[in-house]
This record gives sequence, structure tokens and C-alpha cells, in this order.
Amino acid sequence: MARYTGPVCRLCRTEQTKLFLKGNRCKSDKCPINRKALPPGKAPKSRQAKRSDYAVQLREKQKLKRTYGLMETQFRNTFEKALRMTGKTGENLFGLLERRLDTVVYRLRFASSRAQARQLVLHGHIAVNGKRVNVPSFTVKPGDEIAVHATAKKLGVFKDSLQEFGRSGVMPWLSVDPDNMVGKFNAVPHRQDITDMADIREQLVVELYSK
Ligand code: SF4
Repeated sequence: MARYTGPVCRLCRTEQTKLFLKGNRCKSDKCPINRKALPPGKAPKSRQAKRSDYAVQLREKQKLKRTYGLMETQFRNTFEKALRMTGKTGENLFGLLERRLDTVVYRLRFASSRAQARQLVLHGHIAVNGKRVNVPSFTVKPGDEIAVHATAKKLGVFKDSLQEFGRSGVMPWLSVDPDNMVGKFNAVPHRQDITDMADIREQLVVELYSK
């Protein structure tokens, strides 16, 4: 499956918000957003025209898509799946994105970014319910156990990433045993639980795709 391989900070600069695509660097002073960098090729705000409704919806969709590291087709397919489910499409969309294995691995603090989590999954370092899974888009179910595979536990990358667990824990729908490098996906999160996405207006994404 294709993926974006260009400079990732540029994506944050385009959206003018932190998408947290680079692990620890995102929390440091080196982050261009902390230094109030302008969007690539953009004039200062005073010289910019007012954005249309379409442009606002498009930017919101790009923000969400890029945060989870998906390409357009993958994101659109996920949206279509959310649309077919009962309940609110926006909430379903978040539920599906949070159930992706790469996102769960990142949320469990086994990786410092979603991109790194994706790599670790692709390289076969992650097991779900005891079985190696190397598909980043694999859909995790409530009750599933996600662990660093026995053959990979010595890798420094996991120890480094898990240090973040000591600082800020994990999201409320997950639990983790950092010593044994094993975690659990306890439930599909409710929208209000995904606090680091509080500023995303998913209704705009629904409106965009409903045109
Ligand atoms: Fe780069 Fe991370 Fe800052 Fe985004 S949040 S601009 S990826 S350092």
C-alpha cells in the first residue's frame, strides 16, 4: 500500500497545527509549529483571502487523514465503512481509525510515532493474541492483546518508546504492562475520549464527502 514519503513537517505547516508525525521532536523546540512557521509558499495571514466552506472542509479532512498517516483511497474506504455502520458517521470513523493496528501500537507507547509503529508492524515485530501480524491496517477488536513479539523484545526502539509511558500513561481505552511489553485494547473509544483530537471537526469531513 502506498504511503506518503515526503517531508512530514511540511504537512503540519500546511495545516498550521501539530499532527505529531515525528515522535519526540514534536514536543521539542525544534518543531516548526512551535516556531510559528508559515504554511509552505503562503503569504502572511494579513495578505490571505478568506477561505471557502469547501476549503475549510478539505483542510479538516487532510488534517485527520495525515494525522493517521493514510493515503486518500485508504481514508475514503475507511469513511465509506463508517458510513455503512449504525450510529454517527464521524464517531464511527474515529472508532475505525483508532482500531488500526499501527495506531494501537503507537497509542500503547511501543512506538514514538504512527510512522514508526507502521514500520514495526510491517517488520513483523508485533503480535496480536499471540500471532504475528504484519498488516498496519489490521483491525483490532475489543479484548485483543497486542504485544511486542518475543523475538523483538530486546530492540532498543521499544525500550526508548516505552519511556513515554512512564511520563504520560496510555489512553483510557487501553492498558499496558510495560515490563512485559504487552497491552490490551479494552474497548472502542468514544469520540470524547480521544482528547488529543479534540480540535478536529469530523462533521466537516462528513459534509465534504457527502457533496
Ligand atoms: Fe514536525 Fe512534529 Fe512539529 Fe509536525 S508536530 S511540524 S511533525 S516536529
